[in-house]
Amino acid sequence: MEIILLGSGTAVPSPGRTPAAVLLVRQLTAYLLDIGPGAIHKMAARGIDPTSLQYIFLTHLHSDHTLDLATFLQMNDSNPEMERTLPVFLTGPRGTTVFYNGLMSLYPGIAPHNYPFTIKECEASQFELGEVRISTAFTHHTPTSLAYRFDFPEGSLVYTGDCADSAIYAEDTALVDLCSNVDILICECSFPAGWPGGDHLNASDAGQLAARAHVGQLVLTHLYPPAGRVDIAAQAGVHYTGTVCVAADDLSLSLPSRNS
Ligand SMILES: [Zn+2]
Ligand SMILES: [Zn+2]
Repeated sequence: MEIILLGSGTAVPSPGRTPAAVLLVRQLTAYLLDIGPGAIHKMAARGIDPTSLQYIFLTHLHSDHTLDLATFLQMNDSNPEMERTLPVFLTGPRGTTVFYNGLMSLYPGIAPHNYPFTIKECEASQFELGEVRISTAFTHHTPTSLAYRFDFPEGSLVYTGDCADSAIYAEDTALVDLCSNVDILICECSFPAGWPGGDHLNASDAGQLAARAHVGQLVLTHLYPPAGRVDIAAQAGVHYTGTVCVAADDLSLSLPSRNS
């Protein structure tokens, strides 16, 4: 399976970093985790046809994680060379249906015409998608924000989306438990170590999460510009002794890891 960090940044412009989107490509199936602005065109630029995309997962509803949903829907019904009939399954936190209905009132022309469109709202839960087990946990970045764990037959990964800083995980261990022994942890790392956290993780928070959960590899993403100006891999490595990788747009990883 290939994991492509289509967007490793935030809403704040930063060279080489567009807003959040992670693409999983497994056999003939693509899974898009967050759909920040630019995700659909970047996917196409990688040679992966976005009209084949059926599974989209939203961690939360901030614009840097969701805006290209409108682009995706418009593409599906305005391509003179293709009439979409493949279904779309959108999974997201509580509030996703309200968000979707808001998009429909802003852009009524993008409502799905000829294909089934299903929204599944999750709390902390577990469900199966074919042979893939998907688990979620609250991240406390927003009242409903979620991290996702994917257990594939060949390995496992967690994508955290945005998270409250590490203080909360002393009380609520659900995120640590979700990440437990995962092969690849794709973790938001908005700021350098020592940066006041609040509603984001910094490099030391990310390193501590990886260490507590005994993950196989830590990938740092969702970098604000200050995080790109320091060695955040080394900062996370103060707490976590495994492999740390700093994402840039279009970074590609494989599962099982090429190193294993
Ligand atoms: Zn964000
Ligand atoms: Zn956010």
